Amino acid sequence: MLSHKIIMSILSDRINNLSESATLKMTKLGRELAAKGVNVISLSVGEPDFNTPNHVKEAAKKALDDNFTRYSPVPGYPELRQAIVNKLKTENNLDYDASQIVVSTGAKQSLSNVILTLINPGDEVIIPTPYWVSYSEMVTLAEGKSVFINTSIESDFKITPEQLEAAITPKSKLFMFSSPNNPTGTVYSKDELAALAKVFEKHPNIFILSDEIYEHINFVDKHESIAQFSSVKDRVIIVNGFSKAFAMTGWRLGYIAASKEIAAANDKLQGQTTSGTCSIAQRAGIVAYEQGLDSVNEMKKAFARRRQLVYDLLKDIPGVKTNLPEGAFYFFPEISSFFGKKDADGIVIKNSSDLALYLLNVGHVATVGGDSFGNDNYIRLSYAASDESLVEALRRIKEALGKLS
Ligand code: PMP
Ligand code: GLU
Repeated sequence: MLSHKIIMSILSDRINNLSESATLKMTKLGRELAAKGVNVISLSVGEPDFNTPNHVKEAAKKALDDNFTRYSPVPGYPELRQAIVNKLKTENNLDYDASQIVVSTGAKQSLSNVILTLINPGDEVIIPTPYWVSYSEMVTLAEGKSVFINTSIESDFKITPEQLEAAITPKSKLFMFSSPNNPTGTVYSKDELAALAKVFEKHPNIFILSDEIYEHINFVDKHESIAQFSSVKDRVIIVNGFSKAFAMTGWRLGYIAASKEIAAANDKLQGQTTSGTCSIAQRAGIVAYEQGLDSVNEMKKAFARRRQLVYDLLKDIPGVKTNLPEGAFYFFPEISSFFGKKDADGIVIKNSSDLALYLLNVGHVATVGGDSFGNDNYIRLSYAASDESLVEALRRIKEALGKLS
C-alpha cells in the first residue's frame, strides 16, 4: 500500500503548488470548532445570511415539476442568456447579444474559465491588492504570473492610472479587479474607471476582467462598469452571478459577458470540463432576473445598517485602523500594530494569519488573514451576519486583542 507521504508526492505539481482557499479554510476551521460545542461566530465566509427569495425557490420547484432535469446547452439556456442581456441593458445600459453570454457554475468558474482561456505560461496578469483570494491561485493554475499593484487603506485601496501604467510590460495579458471590491468594499467611481480605461487605450492587447459580483451592494452611488467605455469594451469581460444579489451562494450560478470570441472560447472550455451548469438553478436564475431587485434592496438596507454598526465598533478598538467601505459586505481593517505581541502562552503573533487563528481560538470569531488577499497588515471581517452576532463578535475581538501583550 502506498504511504500518505508517497501519494502526496505523486500529486501533480499543479496541485502541490496550489494554496488552499483561505476563506474556505477559515470557515472550515470555524465549523470544526463549533462542532466541538464552542460558540463560534463566523465572519469568515463572504455570503449573505439571508434566504434565497421565495419566488426564486418557487421557480426551482416548478423547474423540477416541468422536468428541467437534463443537460442544458453548455453556455446556458437561451432564456437565461437573454434575461442576462436584458439585465445588462436595463440596469447597466450595456449592449450585449445572447451569444456573448456564457453561464457557469458560479462566478468562480467564470473567472477560472476566463483565465484558462486567455493565459499562456509566462503571461502576466495585473492584479491590484488586496484581491479576492482565488485570483492569484487561478493565475498560478494557468501557469501565468501575477503582477501585483499594491494599495493601502490610505488610498482607500484604489490604484492610480500611473500605478497601472507602471505595472504594464510587453507580457501583460490581463488586468483583473473587482468593484465593489472583495475584501475591502472599495468602489471605483465612473471618473476613476474612465482614467484606467484611458491607460488601456494605449495598450490594445490587454484584456480587462471586471468582477462585478457585488454590484448591488453599493452604498455610495449606482454601479459603474468599465465596460461602458467603448474604447475598451470589446476587451472587457464582465463576471457576475447570482450568489450575492439573490442570496444564492449554494446554487452555483454565474456568468460572463464578453466579446463573441471570448464567449465562444469559454463555451468550448466548459464543454470539455463541466458542461452547462445545473438546469434547476438556471431556471430559477431566469425568474430572479425577470422579477427585479426588491429582495436585493431589502438586503442592502440591512447591510447598510450593519456597516455603520461595525464601523463604530471597530473604531473603538485600540490598535485597529479602519475605513468606511463603500460596497460589498466586508471590512478590511489594518491590524499590524498587534504583530510582535504575545498571547497568554507566550506565542508571538507574527502575521495576519496568526492573528486570525488567535481570534478564532481565543475570541471564537472566525475571520480571514489579509495575507491571502495580498496584504498581510490587515484582516477581513464579513458583516453578513445578524446585528446581535456582530455586536458580540466585535466585543470578543476587542477583548481578545486587549489580552495580547
Ligand atoms: N468574485 C468575488 C469577488 C467573490 O467574492 C466571489 C465569492 N462569492 C466570487 C467571485 C465567486 O462567486 P460565486 O459564488 O458566484 O462563485
Ligand atoms: N466569495 C466568498 C468569500 O470571499 C466565498 C468563499 C469563497 O468562495 O472563497 O468569502
